[in-house]
Amino acid sequence: MKLTILGSGSPEAYARRASSGYLIEVGEDCVLFDCGGGVVDNLLRSGRQPSQITHIVFSHLHSDHMMDYARLVHAAWDEGGDPIQVLGPAPIGKITEGYFGPNGVLSNDLRARTELPQSQQVWLARGGTLPRPWPAPVIREIGRGEIISGDGWEIKTSLAPHAQPILECLAFSLTSNGKKFVYSGDAGLCDDVETLAQDADLLLHWCYRVDGEKVSPEMAEMTPSPSEIGALAKRVGAGSLLLTHFRKHMDDQKNYDGAIEKASAAFGKPVRIAEDLQQFDI
Ligand SMILES: [Zn+2]
Repeated sequence: MKLTILGSGSPEAYARRASSGYLIEVGEDCVLFDCGGGVVDNLLRSGRQPSQITHIVFSHLHSDHMMDYARLVHAAWDEGGDPIQVLGPAPIGKITEGYFGPNGVLSNDLRARTELPQSQQVWLARGGTLPRPWPAPVIREIGRGEIISGDGWEIKTSLAPHAQPILECLAFSLTSNGKKFVYSGDAGLCDDVETLAQDADLLLHWCYRVDGEKVSPEMAEMTPSPSEIGALAKRVGAGSLLLTHFRKHMDDQKNYDGAIEKASAAFGKPVRIAEDLQQFDI
């Protein structure tokens, strides 16, 4: 399988890094983990189209993990793509209804596109048929401890301590052909993620601060530093470790180099920091 980084950033508006988005291509499927702002642009830059996405999997519903969701679903629909399978914590069903339902915020747009004769003619000229259905992503609300089976792949979910109890937050493993990819979501250190990440071929772990950075005790507990993440990767026997979810100040040369140095020293192997549009074979 192949990982493409479509968003290695945070909620900060930042030209270098879109908000969270990670594409796994496995067999015939394109599984997008999270869909933060800028992810659709990076998907296009990577040479792919919205309608190629078969699954969207949300770790949690913080805005920086879902701001491009409606855009992606709408664009895939506009291309005439098949409905996307959407997996994520509640209330992703209610949110989807809020965008694409009969009274959703996009309902006037969708009525105009599907009911006005001029728009119908454009659709017919593009090979479509009438009546034109509205976007209908297939929603499955998921929680921790679930197994989701796909065509030649399997996703397992675990708790990711982060923004509970307001948001359910998940981490994922995706296994296929004996290879294992693990995405931490925005997880604090915990046994659940550690169990999930055991023997990962590639561990993609969020990193919200550098070692020694001043943060509140509450925040420190939820945001492992590069050296703590490196130590985690070593404990679970990860094949390789990729840090992501970087904020602007963490890209200052001293912080960036320090993060690699600290994480690599703790891991015992070279650690990389994800950059938008990078690709990794797993
Ligand atoms: Zn978050």
